[in-house]
Amino acid sequence: MERTLSIIKPDGTSRGLIGEVIKRLEENNIKIIAAKMIHMTKKQAQGFYAVHKERPFFDSLTDFMSSGPVVVMALTGENVIPRYRELMGATDYRKAAEGTIRKDFATDIEKNIVHGSDAPETAAFEISYFFNSFEIVA
Ligand code: ADP
Ligand code: MG
Repeated sequence: MERTLSIIKPDGTSRGLIGEVIKRLEENNIKIIAAKMIHMTKKQAQGFYAVHKERPFFDSLTDFMSSGPVVVMALTGENVIPRYRELMGATDYRKAAEGTIRKDFATDIEKNIVHGSDAPETAAFEISYFFNSFEIVA
């Protein structure tokens, strides 16, 4: 069983899409093993996205991610990393497949509703960035 980290980004929480995202997880047999709502500081967002620190969008992205509350969740399931990324759709909502979260709701390449880890190593780092072992139920 694989684990991944999901974030419902500030645009997702402010637009009332928390239930919509969770519904899609449940419909796809992806299990939530930890969840909380937090409002990151700029520094916390910079630490989370440190792999992107040289990218031109880093400052704007970390401003956005610290602009309002987010829902962070640890998820589990078979092949959950690629399966959740498939539900999310491509980073750029204009290139996302029909029926994906980003295709259905994103309005902007940056404000794209959700985050999902891209590999087992990044998932392990990202889950431990937000949750300690007592906060994970499985
Ligand atoms: P993903 O979230 O699909 O894994 P990346 O890891 O490449 O995508 O980028 C992290 C986040 O940075 C994206 O989800 C998006 O919010 C933002 N981002 C990515 N590319 C751009 C871009 N060209 N311009 C603005 N923001 C971007
Ligand atoms: Mg990524």
